Amino acid sequence: MKTIGLLGGMSWESTTEYYRIINETVRKRLGELHSAEMVIYSVDFHNIERLQHRGEWGQLTERMIDGARRIRQAGADFLVIATNTMHKMAREVESAISIPLLHIADAAAEEIKKLGIKRVGLLGTQFTMEEDFYRGRLTEKHHIEVLVPDRPERELIHRVIYNELCVGDFSEASKQEFQRIMAGLSDRGAQGIILGCTELPLLIGQEETDLPLFDTTEIHARKAVDWALDS
Ligand code: GLU
Repeated sequence: MKTIGLLGGMSWESTTEYYRIINETVRKRLGELHSAEMVIYSVDFHNIERLQHRGEWGQLTERMIDGARRIRQAGADFLVIATNTMHKMAREVESAISIPLLHIADAAAEEIKKLGIKRVGLLGTQFTMEEDFYRGRLTEKHHIEVLVPDRPERELIHRVIYNELCVGDFSEASKQEFQRIMAGLSDRGAQGIILGCTELPLLIGQEETDLPLFDTTEIHARKAVDWALDS
């Protein structure tokens, strides 16, 4: 079994999900008392969030590279960055370490293509929904068309992620807003929805929409197990 390197804490609410899903998947595949070989480096998200909202992406890239190097030095065979947003600097992180990076958007795209879906709605932080690092990868590398909600909805989603989900607050009112937003994306022609923020599955499940949901936390964590177990 290879050793998984998990760069987490963004937020820890979702990193605990990665830890659970990875270990449950290993047990399902290998049985008995098997669990994952894993190195986790978890950051203080308060500092990360401040730098994100000040636009200090250079400093954030340094922080991510530093975390990734600690993980590699601790013996990981490959790197999993447990957040969609912080794939903004995935290229720089990958080229600074000597182990491969399991990109979250590639893992999601693989599942989307399995269902033959060509047009998806994307929910995530404003960084993920509005910038090119995530949408561009889906479109250019995987030929998947990406729809995002309108600006006021994007702002609402962003607020809910940082002010509620990342501090463990899961409200019925926010769940209903997401149902409305997903219905709007469906009306615009989305054939599926990417939960492109690793905290979103803590609030939203398949029962909230008729469209297939692509839960990036679950998909990414399971793919990590594939990489760990497949020789
Ligand atoms: N976990 C979130 C994501 O998947 C947002 C927190 C962050 O900014 O990293 O994008």
